[in-house]
Amino acid sequence: MNLICRLFGHSAKRDRARHDGDYYWTSCKRCAALLLRDRGGWREPNRRDLARHESNLLQAELDAVEQAGVEQAAP
Ligand SMILES: [Zn+2]
Repeated sequence: MNLICRLFGHSAKRDRARHDGDYYWTSCKRCAALLLRDRGGWREPNRRDLARHESNLLQAELDAVEQAGVEQAAP
């Protein structure tokens, strides 16, 4: 971790943040660590957060595929 991050905390790229259904996710401007925003502010995700994030992204992809299929099937 970057020394400044260690001393003062990460600096989230807010303009790049994406919501995954649970949290906003982005990375740190200085050290590129993956960050999520919960009620307490930006923090590094734990394993459970990461697993849930993966699952949310996968679900969003599946929804998009399903949506594309529906549009194609329409007359
Ligand atoms: Zn950082």
